[in-house]
Amino acid sequence: MKTRKLLMIPGPTPVARSIQEQMGRETVAFGDPAFVKDFKELLEDLKSLFNCSGEVFVVAGTGTMGMEMAIANTTKAGDNVLIVSHGFFGDRFIDLCSRKGLNADVISSEWGETVPVEKIKEKLKEKKYAAMTVTHVDTSTGVCAPVAEIGKMMKEFPETIYIVDGVCATAGEPEDVDAMGIDILFTGSQKAFGVAPGLTMLWASGKALERRKSLGSIPEFYIDFEKWLPVMKDTAKYFATPAINMIWALKESVRIIKEEGIENRYARHRKTGTAMQAALEALGFRILAKEGCRAATLSNPVYPEGVDDAKFRGLLAEEGIMVAGGLAAYAGRMFRLGHMGNIDKHDMISVIAAVERALYRAGMPVELGKGVGVVQQHLIDS
Ligand SMILES: *Cc1c(COP(=O)(O)O)cnc(C)c1O
Repeated sequence: MKTRKLLMIPGPTPVARSIQEQMGRETVAFGDPAFVKDFKELLEDLKSLFNCSGEVFVVAGTGTMGMEMAIANTTKAGDNVLIVSHGFFGDRFIDLCSRKGLNADVISSEWGETVPVEKIKEKLKEKKYAAMTVTHVDTSTGVCAPVAEIGKMMKEFPETIYIVDGVCATAGEPEDVDAMGIDILFTGSQKAFGVAPGLTMLWASGKALERRKSLGSIPEFYIDFEKWLPVMKDTAKYFATPAINMIWALKESVRIIKEEGIENRYARHRKTGTAMQAALEALGFRILAKEGCRAATLSNPVYPEGVDDAKFRGLLAEEGIMVAGGLAAYAGRMFRLGHMGNIDKHDMISVIAAVERALYRAGMPVELGKGVGVVQQHLIDS
């Protein structure tokens, strides 16, 4: 018998059966009154769950499209943009912004650390920035940025649109659009929402919508807020075909989130992150992200001396767990383990147990049950 494979990469994440069922439904017309109602309810829920008094957009696409949509609707060629980067996905904004003819300034941290808020503030004082981007959780490093604290500081720079890449965070790490002063937050369906890839969700504050209006006509068409606003206000309207089955799937994910309670969901993610990271450390891994800025949604463990990455991940896959490799300078030195979305206690135990077996099979000295014991203790203690 073949061992079932658990998908523990940092997106796509495991898709619950009830969500899969929504994708398998017979597709209806986008003007079907039942679908129009479902879509409308979904948008209302998304606005209230993340406390956004502006507008939410749900459009077929991925996280990267969210990045592009955020920049396209808030800047024009020649504008200054400040990119706060904590790794690979922060850096992705550099090329994206340069292609649009923006002057992109980058302020980066060492991998595993965050840029101090004071340093961001000093940079913002240097010139007028049309927008600033911050990656909430950079998947390449497992670092979580202090988005609330940055938002508070941003009150001193009202002319700068505060963009938060929530692709590896939203629905797993606490986010509150209005209270945190976020102007644009976006994510993709396949990360902490636990839906298959295919949807971009983007929340825009009143200030961001005003900025879009002030730009007049923009070069982009499909990702223009102005094109989608009529649809988001009245889901019976057409601009481009909504991803009907994916919207149903997302609606089911939101039902699961509401049933759990968003605060409980955040607490569960925090507990999962702490437990997994402690267990990995007990097994001899070093967590790349420094204590105090570790994400709850994924872990980036650096291998102990003597472990071959390709071999280890191959063994781990044989043991039933799919993880991702390290990026850039950490390729071959680290793996990336997602633990966000709709995963439970069974999954956590299975993952750590499989990591132990893979280490053992790789010839590493490992005390079987040590990591599992740590996870168990965390699960019992809380
Ligand atoms: C996954 C990810 C992206 C890219 O999302 P795609 O859906 O692959 O386009 C962007 N930012 C972060 C932080 C991510 O984790």
